Amino acid sequence: MRTRIAPTPSGYLHVGNAFNFLVTAELTTAFGGTLVLRIDDLDQERVRTEYVEDVFRSLEWLDIRADEGPSGPEELRSRWSQHLRMDRYEHFVQELRRKGQLYPCACSRSEMERHEGGVHLCRTEEFGSVPLGTPWRLSVPEACSIHWVEWDGVQQVIALDTVLPDPVMVQRGNGRPAYQIASLLDDLDMGIDHIIRGVDLIPSTACQLHLARLIERPAFHGVRFHHHPLAMDATGRKLSKSAGDASLKAMREAGRSPEPMKERAKAYTDRLIACIIA
Ligand SMILES: [Zn+2]
Repeated sequence: MRTRIAPTPSGYLHVGNAFNFLVTAELTTAFGGTLVLRIDDLDQERVRTEYVEDVFRSLEWLDIRADEGPSGPEELRSRWSQHLRMDRYEHFVQELRRKGQLYPCACSRSEMERHEGGVHLCRTEEFGSVPLGTPWRLSVPEACSIHWVEWDGVQQVIALDTVLPDPVMVQRGNGRPAYQIASLLDDLDMGIDHIIRGVDLIPSTACQLHLARLIERPAFHGVRFHHHPLAMDATGRKLSKSAGDASLKAMREAGRSPEPMKERAKAYTDRLIACIIA
C-alpha cells in the first residue's frame, strides 16, 4: 500500500489540511503502507518559501513522518519539485492532443455557456496554428458518467460533464499543465494505490479517472479512494485558506496542542477502518 499527502504551498496550512494528513497517516500505519510526501508546487505565482517551510513545520508539529519525499525546502527544489517533471506533464498533454481530446478556448466562464446543440462552440471549430498562451480545454463528452467504488464500499457515480464541464488542461498565458494532469501523473509515477482526500475533490477524482482512461493507464483504476468530510468551523462554514481561518502556524505560535485534532482524526479513522474491514 502506497499513500500520499499532497499539500499545495500557496497559503498556510489549516485544520482541514491537518485532518487530511492525520487520517492518511493513521490509515497508512494501520495497513502497514508507505507514506509519500508530495508538495504540489507547480503554481509558481502562488507558491511562497514561507508556505513551503510551513508544510515541514506543520508535519513535525503533527508528528507525521513521511517514508518518502523531500525532507526540507532545499531537497524539494533539487529533487522533488514538480517543475523537474514538466517534460512528463508536457508529454501527456501532447498525447491528449494527438487523440483529439483537447481544444483551444480562451473563453471566460460565462462565454463557455454559449452552446450549439449542447456543445461549446470552440469545441467544434477547426483550428490551425494556435497563438502561444491560449488555454486548452478537455472535451468532456455529453453524459460522461464516471463510476467507482470507494475504499469502504460506497458507490460513487459522478456526471463529469456537469460537475467539471470542459476543464482547462493547459493554462492561459504560461502554458502550464493543470493540477489534474500533474496530480494524476505524479500518482501514477509514484505508484500511489490509495488516495485519501476531501469530498471537495470528488470532481477531480472523476476527471482524473476519465483522463487515465483516455491515455490508457489502467493502474489508476485500481487506486482505492476515500473522500472524507471537510473540516467545518463552528458555524458550519467550510474552512479554507482564503477564508482567513486559524492556521496551524497561528495555533503553534499560540502554544496550542495538536492533540484534540489528532484525537478527532484517530476516532474518524477507527470508524473508517471498521467499515473497510467489514
Ligand atoms: Zn471557447
